[in-house]
Amino acid sequence: MMELRIKNISKTYGKSKKALCNVDISLTPGIYGLLGPNGSGKSTLMNIITDNLKADRGCVYYDGDPISKLGSKYREKIGYMPQQQEIYDNFTGEEFLWYMAALKGLEKKYAKNKIDNLLKVVNLTSEKNKKIGSYSGGMKQRILIAQALLNDPDILIMDEPTAGLDPVTSVEINSLINEVQERYNTSSIIITHDLTCAKA
Ligand code: ADP
Ligand code: MG
Repeated sequence: MMELRIKNISKTYGKSKKALCNVDISLTPGIYGLLGPNGSGKSTLMNIITDNLKADRGCVYYDGDPISKLGSKYREKIGYMPQQQEIYDNFTGEEFLWYMAALKGLEKKYAKNKIDNLLKVVNLTSEKNKKIGSYSGGMKQRILIAQALLNDPDILIMDEPTAGLDPVTSVEINSLINEVQERYNTSSIIITHDLTCAKA
């Protein structure tokens, strides 16, 4: 079973905004209830373990190898669903997936098929030409799930996939997560406040 070993990670933003101090944990596929109030550093940790942010001190190991050394070999294995942000509001759903496919270096023809397919899986085909800014919270989560799957990852890493959603939508998102895990045979590391988020 794959392991992400987080060893003595510290991160300070700017001169004195301490976000993480000597975090030392091991993550294997599963659902983790990292219970910390807003601002306690959960997303900072997720960005570090997905190699989107550099720690000041410490190291993350994927099955024993430092992710900094594995580089793209590591990033190709993971699909990251970041916490919902407002930054993609001006893209349509489809444009956003094309943008992410380009960042992940997917070949055009492959990306076209993959995007059409994933839009179906997350049930957004009929909304693909609408701006993400007009999407509901659940639709935004669904497009974020789709982008995480573009590169056929082995591991999905999700930062609070149901945060801010109403209970009915949370259930829908949790079952979509279970469905895509089975369909694509991925394992997941999910950080959540939502303790109803069942089987990983
Ligand atoms: P959580 O996900 O638990 O809510 P975050 O990791 O988002 O916590 O934030 C941890 C702390 O770091 C907060 O005080 C937040 O304001 C601060 N922070 C997060 N990102 C940045 C950034 N890019 N620049 C400066 N401070 C940041
Ligand atoms: Mg967060």
